[in-house]
Amino acid sequence: MALSKRIATLTGGGSDGWDLFLKARRMIADGVPVTELTIGEHDIRTAAPILQDMHRSAMAGHTGYAMVPGTDALRDIVAKRATERTGVPTSRDNVLITPGGQAALFAAHAAACDPGDVALFIDPYYATYPGTIRGVSAIPRSIATRAEDAFQPRAQDIEAGVAGAKSLLINSPNNPTGTVYSRATLEGIADICQRHDLWLISDEVYDSQVWEGAHLSPRALPGMAESTLVVGSMSKSHAMTGSRCGWLIGPEHAIEGLINFSTHTTYGVPGYIQDASVFALSQGDEFEAEVGAPFKRRRAIAQRVLAAQNTVGLIPAQGAMYLMLDIRATGMSGDDFADALLEAEHIAVMPGESFGTAAAGHLRVAMTVDDDAFEAALTTLCRFAEARAA
Ligand code: PMP
Repeated sequence: MALSKRIATLTGGGSDGWDLFLKARRMIADGVPVTELTIGEHDIRTAAPILQDMHRSAMAGHTGYAMVPGTDALRDIVAKRATERTGVPTSRDNVLITPGGQAALFAAHAAACDPGDVALFIDPYYATYPGTIRGVSAIPRSIATRAEDAFQPRAQDIEAGVAGAKSLLINSPNNPTGTVYSRATLEGIADICQRHDLWLISDEVYDSQVWEGAHLSPRALPGMAESTLVVGSMSKSHAMTGSRCGWLIGPEHAIEGLINFSTHTTYGVPGYIQDASVFALSQGDEFEAEVGAPFKRRRAIAQRVLAAQNTVGLIPAQGAMYLMLDIRATGMSGDDFADALLEAEHIAVMPGESFGTAAAGHLRVAMTVDDDAFEAALTTLCRFAEARAA
């Protein structure tokens, strides 16, 4: 029995770029000690007090169907966080709670695009973006950025690809590059969105992990609140990846429409997860800083290790839990380098090619092992690159 084209073609065919990750996992299963610097998962687990609150809520009976848009308490505290951080007045009517940022990305594109519409996204990109767009029967079109711009998109490149587009998806702080979009970049993007009537879908799941500069939500730019859908999540800011709790923030009419969409897709998020998320958010900014602190520390380690050599280039790591390394001086592709490094040194990093074409000749390193192991792995990686470049 044939599957719909939507499902059969969701990943666009070919390798999904995760071959190296799977190879590393197979080596580990075979007993090989591999240092994994591949996926965006903290090396700490969800904090015990959050789990205790989850348990308390479940034992108190919050185990039935929860409110589909999200509980009032969670929508309110997410709205308060957005108001405080952006200055844009935000109420619970601007907030839809979703099972993670991924479901919010899907809902946002469902709201913005009709079947056959073009949806823009920026290359390099988080792995699910094109498939999410295909999932709503829209057509993904990538806009390439350049390593020499530290992967900040250029307005003229977006403009050149804008014909027929209904939406533009951006992500700052960025996975995989660690780039934080500047005010100038975001103002250029806002200008294009306004002139071409595009929904701006702003994935801000790393908003609490900024190491240089400041996070600016484009929803706060003049006139943008009516056409911006902001994706947020507890996953990265609170080390709650497995809890599947995120949100979409947007204009009231969009949220109202998407509450219907949730009723017919996810039917919301478990009440005890939402209660624990309220508890976690009420711990405030200091707690989010604590969750992000290991990445800030390891970024400083990386800057020190990389300063001691000149084969591997570091794209300024301004935010998120990743480093983007330029290994073009070795003459190797990211794919070949990552494979050779895994074979020879048992260190797993993601080839830049896994994230589109713009990061070819680069590696994405997730800063997700303890400081000593991280420093040792990075030092070995640099020596390995130096030997290849020689
Ligand atoms: N956006 C980006 C850029 C991500 O890196 C991730 C997860 N790695 C997500 C969205 C989705 O995260 P979640 O569904 O866990 O909130």
